[in-house]
Parts: sequence; structure tokens; C-alpha cells
Amino acid sequence: MTRPLLNSRLAEFGTTIFAEMSALAARTGSINLGQGFPDTDGPEEIREAAVRALRDGLGNQYPPGPGVPELRSAIADHQRDRYGLSYDPDAEVLVTAGATEAIAAALLALVEPGDEVIALEPYYDSYAACIAMAGGTRVPVTLRPHEGAYVLDLDELRAAVTDRTRLILLNTPHNPTGTVLTRAELTAVAELAVERDLLVVTDEVYEHLVFDGAEHLPIASLPGMRERTVTIGSAGKTFSFTGWKVGWITASPELTSAVRSAKQFLTYVSSGPFQYAIAEALRLPAAYFDTLRADLGAKRDLLSEGLAQAGFDVYRPAGTYFVTTDIRPLGATDGFAFCRSLPERAGVVAIPNAVFYDHREAGAPFVRFAFCKRTEVLEEAVSRLKALSA
Ligand SMILES: *Cc1c(COP(=O)(O)O)cnc(C)c1O
Repeated sequence: MTRPLLNSRLAEFGTTIFAEMSALAARTGSINLGQGFPDTDGPEEIREAAVRALRDGLGNQYPPGPGVPELRSAIADHQRDRYGLSYDPDAEVLVTAGATEAIAAALLALVEPGDEVIALEPYYDSYAACIAMAGGTRVPVTLRPHEGAYVLDLDELRAAVTDRTRLILLNTPHNPTGTVLTRAELTAVAELAVERDLLVVTDEVYEHLVFDGAEHLPIASLPGMRERTVTIGSAGKTFSFTGWKVGWITASPELTSAVRSAKQFLTYVSSGPFQYAIAEALRLPAAYFDTLRADLGAKRDLLSEGLAQAGFDVYRPAGTYFVTTDIRPLGATDGFAFCRSLPERAGVVAIPNAVFYDHREAGAPFVRFAFCKRTEVLEEAVSRLKALSA
């Protein structure tokens, strides 16, 4: 067979860096700060709620296509109570197999081959693959480091819109940079979307993980945006149950119905008993969310300070699980080579940000570390990283 097995749409997405780096961590006994998943489970009462659902026979057979009503109404209440956004749980909420499926279904449903999709670079790795599967063309707009944070260049965004642009794919709080888009930035994006009649798909899986009093603002709440925005949420990061794969979208009836058309042929349904448990999780008291933020904020500080002491320039994140660093003060310029040698040099694994870029050179000297790990694990990582400055 001369033709490659993997089709041309997916050829550039062979294997992810996460597989390579996790294997490297296992082989070298390194602390894996590469992939972003917590090393402890979420609330015990929510685990018990899943056990109860399973025992009570809730969700052990195919749940309803749009998701179980208990979860859909909990999602609608969450959007209303947090953000003043009102969605009809029957027509405007769709439960998905994690945010990952929501992203795929939204792009497969809304993008016509040849459409351009603007994504903020560096971007979450599934965006590029899903745009490609939908036959779209990705148009990266680069977030640039400026005074210790990554900022969106609104002129660059404006210049990226063409007559073929179908949608803007947003992510705030932003992985990997930890940026939380400001009200001013989001207002400018919203005005552009209205002016050029664009859809917005916004990945808000880190909505609860913001620090230092930063505010997460859903773009759907800005004028003219509700009817053109698909908002994506997930239980994975908010409740530390990334393996349960419970995600959702909220959007107008027309957009929800379009996304459902694609979703029904991807997984149809998923995570039956877990949907009931997450319906309870979304109704946890404010103290849960406050504690989550405070704990993660302390871990962010611990790792950020350790990285700075080890000699990195640190982009202190306003949200998410991740801290981005610049390796140039350590005399290195190539994040790939740096990450491949880090296990041997310091017994820690990180991810080169270049994998999240089309303009690889723009991401070359940056490396991402995850801090959603137990304090003792982070302390050990910090102590090992001291070897770099020794
Ligand atoms: C983790 C992550 C996802 C995937 O969420 P799941 O609910 O686990 O599918 C999506 N987007 C971003 C930015 C993420 O970091």
C-alpha cells in the first residue's frame, strides 16, 4: 500500500506530545508536570453520588440524547446564578462527552469545508485537529507576552477576519498561558463578531479556576452575543473528575440543535451515572468553589516561586492549571530540546509550548508546567528544579 493510512486531514496530528512526555516521565521516574490532571479526586460526596446513581440504576442504560434532565437544569441554574445568563434546559443545553466532544461537535456542525476558523494561539491541541476534521482552515491569532502576561492584539484579530471567516474559537481562562481575557478584550471581540456576523465558540472549562480576584466573564453575556455564541463547560477541571468526561454546551435553540446533530453521531450519549453526580456537584455551596480556588492559587504560587528561583522567567497565570515559563534566562532557546533533557537534568517533565502554535518560532522558548498536583509533589519538583541553577 503506497497511500498513507492516516488521511491527509489528520496527517499532521500523528501522536500528541503528551504521550511522548508521559512515557518519558514513566521511564525516568520523573515528576510529571506535563499533562493537566489532578493527582487527587474531587469531593467525596460527589463520588458517593455517582455510586448511588449506579446502584439505583440511574444512567446505566442510554440516558436521553441531550443529557439527563437533572443535569441540564443544574447547568442552566449555574449559568443563571453565576452570570445572569438564562438558558432553557430543554432547548438550550446539551450534555457532551467532556468539553472535548463539545468542541468537536460544535466545529463539525458549524464549519463548512473552506471556512476559516480563528483560534487564539497558543491553543489547546484538539482545536487544530477538530478544525481539520471539519475541513476548515485555521487562522491563528497569537497571544503575545507583554509585561509578564499574555495579551490579545485586537488589531491582529481584526486583521485576521476575512469574508471566509465563520467563527472565532475562544478559550478563557486560557490554556496554556493562564491568561483570563478582560472585559475590554472580550467586548472588542464581541463587537467584531457582531460587525462581521461571526459565530463564537468559547471554551470556558477553567471558568472556576481564576486567582487574585480575577473575573471570568462569559462572552455570551455581552450585547449581541447570546444568539451567536456556543459556550462550552466541563465538570472535569471544576470538580477534579477528569475521567468522568461530563461536559456541556449552552447556546440558542438553533445553535444547540446544530451541535446536537453532530454530537448524536459521535458518542450519542455518555457518562450516564456521572451525569447525576455532576448535577449535584454544580449545586455545591460557594465554599467548595472558594476552597478550590484558594488551594490551587496556593499551588500556583508555590510552583511559580520555585520556577523563578530555579532561573525561569515566569508568566504568573491569572487562571487555569498551568504556568508558562521562558527558558532563555537558563541559557536555552529550544523548548523541545529543553523538555527532552529536563528529566535527566532535574527529574521533572514539562511540555514545550511550541506544540500549541502554528508559528512554532513564536512559542519556541516557552515551557508549560502544571500545578494541579499535591503540595508535596510540587515541593519535591521545586527542590529538584534547583539543580538547574546550581
Ligand atoms: C482539559 C481541557 C479540555 C477538555 O475537557 P474535557 O471535559 O476533559 O473533555 C478542553 N479545553 C481545554 C482548554 C482544556 O484544558
